[in-house]
Amino acid sequence: MNLDEFDVIKNKSEAIGNEMFELMEELFPICRSITGNGVRQTLKILKKHIPLEIHEVPTGTKVFDWTIPKEWNIQDACIIDPNGEKIIDFKKSNLHIVNYSTPVNQKIFLSELKKHIHTIPEKPDLIPYVTSYYSENWGFCMSHNQFLDLKEGEYHVIINSKLESGNLTYGEYLIPGKSTDEILLSCYICHPSMCNDNLSGVVLLTMLAKYMQNFKNNYSIRFLFIPETIGAITWLHINEMNISKIKHGLIATCLGDSGNLTYKKTRNSNEEIDKTVVNVLKKSGKKFRVLDFFPWGSDERQFCSPGFNLPIGSLFRSIYGTNEFPEYHTSGDNLNFMSVKSLAESFFIYFSILFELENNFHLQSDKSNLSKNLITHSKKETTNSIKYLNLNPKCEPQLGKRGIYHQIGGQESTMKQRKMEFRIFWILNLSDGNNSIQDISKRSDIPLKDLQSSIKILINSKLIQKIEK
Ligand code: ZN
Repeated sequence: MNLDEFDVIKNKSEAIGNEMFELMEELFPICRSITGNGVRQTLKILKKHIPLEIHEVPTGTKVFDWTIPKEWNIQDACIIDPNGEKIIDFKKSNLHIVNYSTPVNQKIFLSELKKHIHTIPEKPDLIPYVTSYYSENWGFCMSHNQFLDLKEGEYHVIINSKLESGNLTYGEYLIPGKSTDEILLSCYICHPSMCNDNLSGVVLLTMLAKYMQNFKNNYSIRFLFIPETIGAITWLHINEMNISKIKHGLIATCLGDSGNLTYKKTRNSNEEIDKTVVNVLKKSGKKFRVLDFFPWGSDERQFCSPGFNLPIGSLFRSIYGTNEFPEYHTSGDNLNFMSVKSLAESFFIYFSILFELENNFHLQSDKSNLSKNLITHSKKETTNSIKYLNLNPKCEPQLGKRGIYHQIGGQESTMKQRKMEFRIFWILNLSDGNNSIQDISKRSDIPLKDLQSSIKILINSKLIQKIEK
């Protein structure tokens, strides 16, 4: 790619922003999940723009500590009130149904129905996004205002879904470069009708692939369209032998809101991708933020697990799960929440990052002569400090099946539970043989005494082990 080619795309980026939004409008109504026909339908639409390769991995396949779950598909669902009126309709919003709900067709009284209803009292107009992938259950989601209006009596609940042996589906596209060294760009395709999280990442990477394939590149560029978590784990399991080709990477998510761009660094924090992204953001003249790596969020959790420790960061806008993005995982994250200008700008920044990496290619290939271990063992002097070893260093272990992680995903989880999970993620991510518990406490900013109870849980679950000197 030369400077003239760069300028062509720069001048086109506004039009590309519109193209991204149109694609998002087409994808928005589809009920996606971590498996099923919603994912296939989504990939089929993307295939009109780029020659995606579609992979199917059967239910029951072991992928590190995880197993590919049953495939979920849903036709329809509703709640009919005591007056015979349809008060919840899947066709109006697929967020109304807990994603992965098992089939149900029964008449129940309000008190029983309430046990299966999810709302957000603090955001009474919005429908929450709730999932139950690994614990068979069924449920409905509605606005808290609607919940408060429910009358006593007998309700008819119908969920016409199927949960059975099938496949996990994902899409992949490699644009070959002169070198086999790769840049990995990944997004997830498992959320139903929500835009910023996750359609903005999907449409951005689709357009980036569409325009990048016209250029002669030094790097090979790999694009992944995978279900979050289980898809990343599956991809890493299948491609473990080739991951040393990955020299730089980014996870694309939440790129269409009006907030400033935010870069979350790689686990090692001083990789070429870290410097490149910050350079490009500085040159853009726009306000931006840089965050240190933290071991939760999106698929960087898997790519940056200690057994892989890949140079992969994440570039997004407003920070998900915080007050600056209250629409996160709700019906508020819809097409009206999207800014075409932000989409276009995010696209151009991603494109500029690729351009800069391409221009610095020779510098990188000089360095690649140095053999690099999967896990960088920087020798660190630590004094009499206790260290633990993560016994499951490739991707996260499945905490849910050990009763450590909340089973219902999406919106609901208490702050106390979340804090415990954060401590566990830090210990697992940094227990690579290099870091003592003092190091973990310092980097995570969690007092040593608060880490102790989580260490005990992890030892009892045989997920970490003390390193004997
Ligand atoms: Zn999400």
